[in-house]
Amino acid sequence: MKRSAIYTRLSKDRPEERSRADQEADCTALCRAKGFEVVAVHTDLESGYRRTARRPGYEALLRDVQAGATDAVVIWKLDRLTRQGIRQIAPLLDVLEQSGTILLSVHDPIDTSTAMGEGTLGLLASVAKQESENISVRTRRAKLHHAEKGRHKDGGPRPFGLTRDWSAVVPEEARLIRSAAERVLTGDSLRSIVLDWNRQGVVTSTGRGWSIQALRGLLLQRRLYGVRVHDGRVVAKGTWPSILDEATSRRLSAVLTDPKRRSGRPAHSYLLTGFLWCSRCGGRMRSTHPSGGKRKYTCPPKPDGCNGIAILADDAEREVGAQILIAMDSPRLRETLHDDDGGGEEFTVAIAADEMKLEELAQDWAANRITRPEWLVARDAVQARLDQSRRRLAEIAVKLPLVQEDLSGRWEDLTFDEKRQVLGVVVDSIIVMPATRGRHFFDPTRLSIKWRF
Ligand SMILES: [Zn+2]
Repeated sequence: MKRSAIYTRLSKDRPEERSRADQEADCTALCRAKGFEVVAVHTDLESGYRRTARRPGYEALLRDVQAGATDAVVIWKLDRLTRQGIRQIAPLLDVLEQSGTILLSVHDPIDTSTAMGEGTLGLLASVAKQESENISVRTRRAKLHHAEKGRHKDGGPRPFGLTRDWSAVVPEEARLIRSAAERVLTGDSLRSIVLDWNRQGVVTSTGRGWSIQALRGLLLQRRLYGVRVHDGRVVAKGTWPSILDEATSRRLSAVLTDPKRRSGRPAHSYLLTGFLWCSRCGGRMRSTHPSGGKRKYTCPPKPDGCNGIAILADDAEREVGAQILIAMDSPRLRETLHDDDGGGEEFTVAIAADEMKLEELAQDWAANRITRPEWLVARDAVQARLDQSRRRLAEIAVKLPLVQEDLSGRWEDLTFDEKRQVLGVVVDSIIVMPATRGRHFFDPTRLSIKWRF
């Protein structure tokens, strides 16, 4: 006796549909008529509005067929197999055809077990595949065309900061976006902005509270400065009003995508992590905290270091803090802190130019104007320069959050994050010398600070 698996699907939004029990009963009757034994019934209950909803029943059915656990698949109606038409079931049809599993439908003239139905499966499968390809080519082309005209993406929730039809800004939301951008660029954390927004009752365009991820995603959207992005690249000037200017947007993205930056709790649990270098081997010292012992910064073992130098963390941090306070009196540091733009403009322009260059190179290669090796060589050079500019921009794009006139004496009052920011701006690196043997108190001369100014 042939084994058969029944698949039924019910849409919550179409009450006129026959109930699942009815569908199953019809399928079972068909199996009985054909002399099949029903070995499994798979079912999905779906809502048509949630397009990404998983379909565990359909997946289980696919697994059954792949595993050879059934000889026939019985469905109520072909369009019950999938909501989005035949193209969606190409994978199943393929598997059915390969494994020689029969497909039977109660309501369609499909019975691949008969001589008449033979070949139906292959035909269906190829129609499905063709349809699927056509649709994707058609939609791709239409979408690109749409994008190149600078029109916004259709559908989706209302963009935060703009009206539903994208034709005008929502002043209050635009103000919030600008203020968040300003705060990020002056070194504030996404976390604190999110806290403030949620405290003020600011919600997303779908009415939800803000999360760090959502805010980060928002601030990285290039539509904020009025350009249309398609497949990750800018294809046109958008037809909607911009909320940020391009320079601000680029600085924001440099800061937010800086690998050194982590959202949430600071990744650097120790203040000087990343700043201390071993004087013996040049290794980057790591924070260590032996249980029962004192916190230390230590040169890591091979291959990253020589494991030969360590310094007590509390002492080192106090000393560096003290030296920063002294340095604060230096007129050159004050100048650095007051330098509003820090050359950000220059890097912004360079980044835009290099991104353009990469794009042109790719087009040259695509049009056979240059060979692939030529393209790769040129691309690597531009990419390296681009990475460098982005790193520099990320470093300087964060302005100090402090009252700049009155930094001295405030070191101890700063939060951990603020201290890290000050360090990042004023300290390039700190070389740690070996301890002098037999010396049992902290020796400040072991720290040699290389300033950025
Ligand atoms: Zn070392």
